[in-house]
Amino acid sequence: VPSTHIAILGSTGSIGTAALDVLSTLGDPWRATALTTHSRIDLLIEQARRFKVPRVVVTGPEPTPSHRATLKSLGCQLLLGEAGLREVAAAPEPGTVLAAIVGAAGLPPVLAAVAHGKRIALANKESLVIAGSLLMPLARSTGAEILPVDSEHSAIFQALASGKRSEVRKLILTASGGPFRSTPAETMAAATAAQALDHPTWKMGGKITIDSATLFNKAFEMLEARWLFDIHPDSIEIVIHPQSIVHSMVEFNDGSTLAQLSPPDMRLPIQYALTYPDRAPCPSPPMDWTRPHTLTFEPPDRLKFPSLDLAFHAARTDGPSGGTLSAVMNAANEVAVEAFLAGHIRFGRITPLVAAAMDHHQLAPLTHDPTLEQLLAADAAARAFVRTRLAQ
Ligand code: NAD
Ligand code: MG
Repeated sequence: VPSTHIAILGSTGSIGTAALDVLSTLGDPWRATALTTHSRIDLLIEQARRFKVPRVVVTGPEPTPSHRATLKSLGCQLLLGEAGLREVAAAPEPGTVLAAIVGAAGLPPVLAAVAHGKRIALANKESLVIAGSLLMPLARSTGAEILPVDSEHSAIFQALASGKRSEVRKLILTASGGPFRSTPAETMAAATAAQALDHPTWKMGGKITIDSATLFNKAFEMLEARWLFDIHPDSIEIVIHPQSIVHSMVEFNDGSTLAQLSPPDMRLPIQYALTYPDRAPCPSPPMDWTRPHTLTFEPPDRLKFPSLDLAFHAARTDGPSGGTLSAVMNAANEVAVEAFLAGHIRFGRITPLVAAAMDHHQLAPLTHDPTLEQLLAADAAARAFVRTRLAQ
């Protein structure tokens, strides 16, 4: 059920600020019960002031005495760290938790929200990549709703309404192809952070923009879709669509394909996850069909972008009850992307580092139906493995 009381985790990021834009257009009685940031405390305080938010969480560097004084004067309670995130996600006040933290750091509050039966508007795809095998059954038992914010999954979620789940043959995930779609592999390997951050169609946070350049973002989205829609990975196809207008598609058993189209703007899928099953006017513009448009589709270059096959391999290895290899892929990628953004490695090293961490993990016996402890241990070991490689 939709709730007008939202906790926005990661409110200072690209999705978080877009979500606040959506809340202000939705207007009364929509409001934020809590906002959170890692290190952008000034922006967080500005948001708390503007949206009259009663609680904020800071997970990074300690707020200064002056920050604390300002928050106090606003009547805004300050919580700290992961415990703070879990507390505002599980509190009785928000009916909906918008999970817009980047990376594995987003998992603990998502678990807390699912355990407390909330609606989770999920942007943090890493949660499902790591722990989909825990989150989906937990949501079924608590009555939590996990609704996609990711534009591809929102498109699929909307198209699925046109038939029964048993009539679905295939999900078609579209991908822009990122900034290196038509760059020769050797040039791509030497690309700088500035080049990799220059995404052709979407304006997003740093990590997901790099993931879009390696296509790990699409790799993660395949794993996200497998859990969210309970579909076999072999029934998910990835198609390059450089214009980012068709956000994804569903093929039904009669051969009919349903798609969702809109200009690339995250405010629409964010809002739909909040208002579902209702729709409402949205600040994002609709398509302008009075102008010409060319929509093109092509298969991805799987040799140039091995991330895709790595994800299908992880899904197959983990199996239907889940495993730890997807978590390893995610953790290794987070460390490699951080190193790339810090200028320590070239672009071409990201994917091989992830592949090496996955190979290393498979030297030990495989885990199926993992516990949270096993997933977190696999995550930590993969990070340590990549850090060691980086130090060599
Ligand atoms: P971003 O970097 O712009 O924002 C990240 C937010 O998370 C910030 O508020 C930051 O303060 C917070 N954060 C960062 N590290 C943290 C940590 N260790 N602990 C707690 N909080 C932390 O990222 P974004 O582009 O908004 O992406 C957020 C999530 O949404 C990611 O999982 C991404 O894959 C997903 N997503 C983003 C888009 C998009 O258009 N930006 C689209 C689809 C999905
Ligand atoms: Mg997406």
